This record gives sequence, structure tokens and C-alpha cells, in this order.
Amino acid sequence: MKLTCINCPMGCTITVTKTKEGYKFSGNNCARGEAFARDELTAPKRMVTALIHTDRGVTSVKTDKPIDKKLIFKLLAEIDKIHLKNAKMGQIVIKNALNTGVNVVVTKSI
Ligand code: SF4
Repeated sequence: MKLTCINCPMGCTITVTKTKEGYKFSGNNCARGEAFARDELTAPKRMVTALIHTDRGVTSVKTDKPIDKKLIFKLLAEIDKIHLKNAKMGQIVIKNALNTGVNVVVTKSI
């Protein structure tokens, strides 16, 4: 199996081979690639970015850590409910989203 690491712009192609002892990884240029590949095999996660509405217009938010891929649409539905008066960069708009320990933060003041 081949995976493309999305942890940095290098985008290494990681080859995963199943062995008797477990999995063998090659093609990654650093340890983060192996960690990414292991997560992809067991519990894939992604950073989530989205837009929210404020009284001053639309601005952007993102998760402060990757979240389980299965929860992305549920999280987007929660983010869609948000309407703020204004937004300040770094402001937490959802704390401990969906009980994951992940926060959703504003990425651009408006
Ligand atoms: S394996 Fe390391 S160098 Fe390669 S894309 Fe992933 S993080 Fe970047």
C-alpha cells in the first residue's frame, strides 16, 4: 500500500508493507511520516478548516489539532451553528469539540 504523507509540503510517498511482526514503512523522510502512516492504518485524522459568520462578515476557523476523519461532518455542522459579533485571531469558538480534546479557533480577526 502506498500513502502520501500530508504533514509537510514534501509529500513523501510512503510504502507500507505488512510483515509477520506488523508493518514496515519506507519512503518517508522523517519519523512524522511513519506516525502519519500508522494513524492512517488505524484511526485517520485531519485538520479541519471552515468559515463562520460574524456581524462583520465571514472569517475562518480551524481545529488546533487533527480530528478523527469520521467526525469531520459532525464538527462542520457544529461550526455552521456559530454566529459571533466579532472574531479575534486565536479565539476559541468551540472548546473540546465533540469531546475530542480538540478546540476550534479563529484564524483571522474581523
Ligand atoms: S515524511 Fe516527513 S518529510 Fe516526508 S512529507 Fe511527511 S513530514 Fe514531510
